[in-house]
Amino acid sequence: MTSALLLVIAVGATQSHGIDISGMDRSVVVKSPADLYNFANGSWFDRTAIPPAKANVGTFEEIQEHNFAILRTIVEEAASRKLRLGSSPIALVGALYRMAMDVKSIEARGGKPLAPELARIDAVSDRSSLVREIAHLDSLGVPVGFAVRVRPDPFNATRMLLTLSQGGFILPDRQLYVDNDDRSKALRGQYWTTMAKLMSLAKVSDPAAQADASLRVERILAKAANSQTVLQNAQANNHVMTLAELGVLTPSVDWSGFLTELGAEKPDSVNLCQPRFLQAFSQALTTIPIVQWRSYLIASVLYAWSPYLSNDFVKSQRSLTNDITGATEMEPRWKRAIDTIDSVAGDALGQLYVEKAFSPEARDQALRLVENIKSALRNRIQELDWLAPQTSRWAISKLWAMTFKVGYPSVWQDYSGMQLKRDSYLANVVRIQNFDWKRQLAKLGKPVDRSEWEVTASTVGAIYNPVWNEIVVPAGILQPGLFNAEADSASNYGAIGAIVGHEMTHGFDDLGSQYDAFGNLKNWWTPEDKEHFLDASSHIRVQYDAYRSPEDLPVSGALTMREDVADIGGLNLAYLAFHKLLGGASPPIRDGLTGDQRFFVAYAQIYRSHYRPDIASVMIHSNPHAPDPVRVQGALTDQPAFYKAFGLAVPKNLPQIW
Ligand SMILES: [Zn+2]
Repeated sequence: MTSALLLVIAVGATQSHGIDISGMDRSVVVKSPADLYNFANGSWFDRTAIPPAKANVGTFEEIQEHNFAILRTIVEEAASRKLRLGSSPIALVGALYRMAMDVKSIEARGGKPLAPELARIDAVSDRSSLVREIAHLDSLGVPVGFAVRVRPDPFNATRMLLTLSQGGFILPDRQLYVDNDDRSKALRGQYWTTMAKLMSLAKVSDPAAQADASLRVERILAKAANSQTVLQNAQANNHVMTLAELGVLTPSVDWSGFLTELGAEKPDSVNLCQPRFLQAFSQALTTIPIVQWRSYLIASVLYAWSPYLSNDFVKSQRSLTNDITGATEMEPRWKRAIDTIDSVAGDALGQLYVEKAFSPEARDQALRLVENIKSALRNRIQELDWLAPQTSRWAISKLWAMTFKVGYPSVWQDYSGMQLKRDSYLANVVRIQNFDWKRQLAKLGKPVDRSEWEVTASTVGAIYNPVWNEIVVPAGILQPGLFNAEADSASNYGAIGAIVGHEMTHGFDDLGSQYDAFGNLKNWWTPEDKEHFLDASSHIRVQYDAYRSPEDLPVSGALTMREDVADIGGLNLAYLAFHKLLGGASPPIRDGLTGDQRFFVAYAQIYRSHYRPDIASVMIHSNPHAPDPVRVQGALTDQPAFYKAFGLAVPKNLPQIW
């Protein structure tokens, strides 16, 4: 009796369909791609509200909550062990969590942990000491003036280079500093209010004037920054040059002092991503008075570090984030603590996470899915008529060289030598960021280590990294809602399969065509290939230009085209891989849905979401992805299989790149 019951449960589990049946609205008749979005998600839309502390809610945020619950048991368990301060993952995670949750000590210290850094900024007296202070802040994880990173050389991807790019902004998009629409003006006002408040909490002199000055500096720099659309052009955003050439372009910057303070030896070359921006920075050193630069440095430090101080700082800092997103509350302390640990000691937390949340079986199955989508892409490349034969061979060799990182790193970051101290939470967060910065810096001049991961294991996201020609699919996204080792393949291929397919196409689109198989910035398309691709994608741009967001804002096909092409192509690749797996068999009908119908419903459920209008109005100008309903409607519109699955006539001349 017992064994029979177990058997029934086991069979039930393996037959789980993976899609959220209860989130559907069966009363919707599917006559178009837009209908499928409502058919798949209607009940979910009705039953789901955006939590007060969030900007949006959707499948990704729901998985994030699922991960938070797992991570909470991990950090609480680690903290309860009360291990001595040490560098093992569990000791590190436990100590950081205990410090983050020690409200009494944090409140008692107030803003005092800021004092040493504010004193340093106070001592900045000229251009040279300003540039050195910027380097010092970079080494502590506070980006100011511009961004400094250690990245592969875009023209010789075997070595690591010091990379200088635009950055150091507090607001999330440069347009918010330069545009004069009501929303941008209001956010600049809120920036001012937040900075004046934080400055007065930190007891710096004349908070109002200092907030003014900081905003002024950021606006001058933002004017010279590239827009999101220009940032998509890799050639326009990578310029490797010698240190002497850098000096000629940016004569007011004391690079020698900067590098010494940074702890970097003099490199023979650097990658200056946006020369115009760094030139403007250099010029601003001579035109903006030092006293105003100091205000900007103070604002940057306060904004970056307030989350680790007493509640008055935390709340004031958060008010600006909430003004941007429209959220009305803060996440509880335990979630903020986990976010911090994930960002500063992600590999320590990640090791503990995969032990609990990602089985070897799940990893095997995810790897098989990735392999199957890769083989679908190989077949498509061979069939494509818009690629010249030699380009097609290039594409195949690039796909062959592509690396797939699934689940978690094969080598975890070693924290040996990382010594936390019994002072403030802030001091320890900064200490560990400085530890990581030194680790980054040590890579300069060394061969590229391609085994490294640039996202943490619990991240709910997937990436294609053109510089390393790799796909990264962390365990955090390989979770129920997008992937379920127990579920049938229709839902897994429709959800995570489409996401993996999307990422894979990026290796071969207008971005991927600029990078060779080893990650060097080297175009491998013929002029004709490019023309054919742009011609095909221009139809897609026109298609998306006609869409509007749920807030009735127009979609910019020029901004979203690359991602739209990947959405359409990724869904097609997942569908082809799903059918290859079926090998001609028809999967059984479940819950009244055929296998193909479940595949497309799973796709439509990836992008079910509600967004606050405040954040939506920022994203429509800055997010290279179309709004969620458009991602579903747009990609389905171009899939013949979707129309067939729902008994609809297939329109003629659908654009299809992949
Ligand atoms: Zn993409």
